[in-house]
Amino acid sequence: MNRKYRKTVIAGNWKMNKTPSETKAFMTEFKAIMPKGRWCDVALCVPAVCIPAAVKAMRETRIGIGAQNCNANAAGAYTGEIAANMLVDAGCKYVIIGHSERRAAGETDADVNAKVHAALENGLIPIVCVGESLAQRETGITTEWVTLQIKSALDGIGEDQIRRIIIAYEPIWAIGTGKTATPEQAEEVCENIRTVVRKLFGAKIARAISVLYGGSMNEKNAYDLLAQPDIDGGLIGGASLVPEKFVKIIEAANQPTI
Ligand code: PEP
Repeated sequence: MNRKYRKTVIAGNWKMNKTPSETKAFMTEFKAIMPKGRWCDVALCVPAVCIPAAVKAMRETRIGIGAQNCNANAAGAYTGEIAANMLVDAGCKYVIIGHSERRAAGETDADVNAKVHAALENGLIPIVCVGESLAQRETGITTEWVTLQIKSALDGIGEDQIRRIIIAYEPIWAIGTGKTATPEQAEEVCENIRTVVRKLFGAKIARAISVLYGGSMNEKNAYDLLAQPDIDGGLIGGASLVPEKFVKIIEAANQPTI
């Protein structure tokens, strides 16, 4: 990471875990042990029905609550969907877009791009996920694949908007598998993501954009991953469900030695 130029962000992705009551219990426990003083940005992206409980519990704190998806349209006949302005009104600050589990369910690069636009237009901070499958890594096309995903996700984004985007590199083979990318593997792709942003938006913006790593990050491997120069934080699934583990990852990000 490089605290001089960009924000360090530790974001939890609860996926489809925890009820509103369990959310309340988690937040009580989390608040009691969360690091005090100056520290990195922290986000918790919870299931949609848990947003009110999470927002209420975190009102007086610096933890930002986020959603895990939004619809690209403003309103209308989209049964079961949630628009970006609804998330804002419910108190969300962040929204995960293009998670590989949603892409596996049919979300395309064009959908991701439309959602990024909708999120930004409504004032949400999009956490845009990109990453390759194991087959793609083994065929040696990781760089090309991730470059395409980034270019597509950021298509039509203005210079004033790009500053509010967070990118998360999440190799699919490392998500929920316990198989973490090595710090060197993760750094290589995150550095390339910054290069792509540099080519699209210039050096100043590339230097300022936060690029996270996600994929079985936990309290044991977080420090080494976060010590890489182009990894500015983490998107954390499983380990964000347990307050003690999530706090340890935040503490790793706060170490003055990185
Ligand atoms: C994720 O869901 O984005 C993720 C990285 O999950 P996990 O940490 O469990 O691999």
